[in-house]
Amino acid sequence: MDLKSLIRDIPDFPKPGILFRDITTLLRDPEGLHYTIDFFTKECIDAGLQADYVIGMESRGFIFGSLLAYKLGSGFIPVRKRGKLPAAVHSIEYELEYGTDCLEVHQDALQLGSRVLIVDDLIATGGTASATAKLVQQIGCELVGFGFIIELRDLQGRKHLPDVPIISLIEY
Ligand code: IMP
Repeated sequence: MDLKSLIRDIPDFPKPGILFRDITTLLRDPEGLHYTIDFFTKECIDAGLQADYVIGMESRGFIFGSLLAYKLGSGFIPVRKRGKLPAAVHSIEYELEYGTDCLEVHQDALQLGSRVLIVDDLIATGGTASATAKLVQQIGCELVGFGFIIELRDLQGRKHLPDVPIISLIEY
């Protein structure tokens, strides 16, 4: 299946000069969604990525991360922006183009040695995925790999990630 044909390109969103890859058109396509999740699952299994937990980043990582966790028989753990999670959290600050941002995970969600797979819809500069990796590694988890639906190759985000398998289904 031609998954790229299900991704909608939106010029100048959220800022002038940015070409936004919109996955909502893939999500609303029954066959496309089914194929994507089955393909994602197969790629993870073939790469030997067995995880106790799939971690998904707010907010589109929740969608693909949950579906993948269900298929892999793993649990799902959300990583959220500052102040959104109700219980005690571990936090990590990371650099944006202008300023910093913060990601959080519940303190009791992960244990020392938990095997985790980090999932998001898209990797661009790698800042979000890299910060999430640091967060789980600081807790003492075993990072088994990363999974993305889309990878923007020109931005070389994978260069900033630890040396574990990185799966992406669609490349631009
Ligand atoms: P990075 O931190 O630069 O790798 O950016 C990745 C994060 O920004 C992910 O959480 C994505 O959901 C979001 N993102 C960046 N560009 C796009 C895009 O073109 N489409 C959808 N999400 C994007």
